[in-house]
Amino acid sequence: MTSLRRFLTALALCLAGHASAATLYHGGTLLTLASGQDRPIERGYLLVSDDGQIAALGLGDGTTDPVVTADRGAAGFTTVDVSGRILLPGFVSGHSHLWQSVFRGITPAAELSAWLQGLHYTYGPHFAAGDFAAFTLHGAYDQLRHGVTTTYNHSHAFGRDFERYREQFTAKLTTPQRFVFAWVNDASADDATWVARLEAVIAQVQPRADRPLLGLCLNAVGLHRGPAILLREIAVAKKIGRTVQVNYLEPSASQIEDRAAWPKIKAAGGLFSGMSFAHFIHTDDTVLREAAAAGAAMIWNPLSNVRLASGLPQIEAYLAAGLRVGMGVEGQASAEISDPFENIRLGLYALRIRRENAGGLQPIDLLRLHTLKTAEVLGVQRWVGSLEVGKFADFLVVDPGNPATGPVWDAAATIVFACSSRNVSSVVIGGKKVIESGRVLDHDAVAL
Ligand SMILES: [Zn+2]
Repeated sequence: MTSLRRFLTALALCLAGHASAATLYHGGTLLTLASGQDRPIERGYLLVSDDGQIAALGLGDGTTDPVVTADRGAAGFTTVDVSGRILLPGFVSGHSHLWQSVFRGITPAAELSAWLQGLHYTYGPHFAAGDFAAFTLHGAYDQLRHGVTTTYNHSHAFGRDFERYREQFTAKLTTPQRFVFAWVNDASADDATWVARLEAVIAQVQPRADRPLLGLCLNAVGLHRGPAILLREIAVAKKIGRTVQVNYLEPSASQIEDRAAWPKIKAAGGLFSGMSFAHFIHTDDTVLREAAAAGAAMIWNPLSNVRLASGLPQIEAYLAAGLRVGMGVEGQASAEISDPFENIRLGLYALRIRRENAGGLQPIDLLRLHTLKTAEVLGVQRWVGSLEVGKFADFLVVDPGNPATGPVWDAAATIVFACSSRNVSSVVIGGKKVIESGRVLDHDAVAL
């Protein structure tokens, strides 16, 4: 929005007698995580417009910024002093299953196959009406409390009828947390039914600062259920212009058979820029080279990969090969704390243990992987993932002084090495505070 247009808007509101709901955050350190912007803006300002977008940001108090002065002169705004605190974009999880939130600690000695047996196949068939909805809300508010402002909700069906399956979508619409819904097609329905159901969801994808739904992706299950289904899933996704995510190369035990399935993915048309592979741990040179050349991406889930003893992907080699990498906090049944701070810390530590060298990826790189880079994989970077003018005002106010972590020498390093979600004093989505010191503001989380 141009400064002239913002000025005229503010003036119009003033003349109409409305108080502006714009908010100026000032005095804090801004870690924008925008591309190429590694240095924090110390003692900066961030203006949130009344429509929930970032209207201006920069160094200082904003008094020389024409956008800020236009707002101040016209309708005025609320000011929030965030001195001593760090503002950074809300985290984006590129792979999660919100319903799993009520199954923490299950099968603690299991790797993926036994874990699926103990969770999905043991409890899934017994979900009653309302369960998916309640579990999804539980998971969404848990992620929000940990600073995940946008999530990719990979839904499941478990043979439930369509209305019960859809609870995962309709419940999620009632939360402030933004999401890309990851749709699982009913293999017994025909393509026309798939498209009709998907288009009904696509019609609701109209991103706005005050709406949670950001997109729709197909989660293809045909790799596990048959090449014919995979072929249909990918063809339908391409036809309606949607991205696809496939769980691939996760458990260590079956890595040889799983790698042998690579030609099936290629034959089904799965190598394209709209494809992301969740986990993608046990690649070889061919798989990595072909995935990168196709413009495909992967989502790394360190907490879950460690919990299930799945393994550690060669993230630095992937990035060097040109593969796009995002991060996810997975479902809370395999990454129980759903905490992006821990996810990043564990991931970075694990890479360093393997390298026995601290010269590779740095805290700022991991923060960007879990925000902007994941938003890019999900195709929602136009709205979220960094603090930039015109994006939605989705951000965290982190207080390194509560609990106290000492002086801040390097903002990114303090966030990654020293802070946890306990240091998140506010979670703001579309300019609206939704979490304050761990407390959910728009929902009775205790009753839930
Ligand atoms: Zn998963």
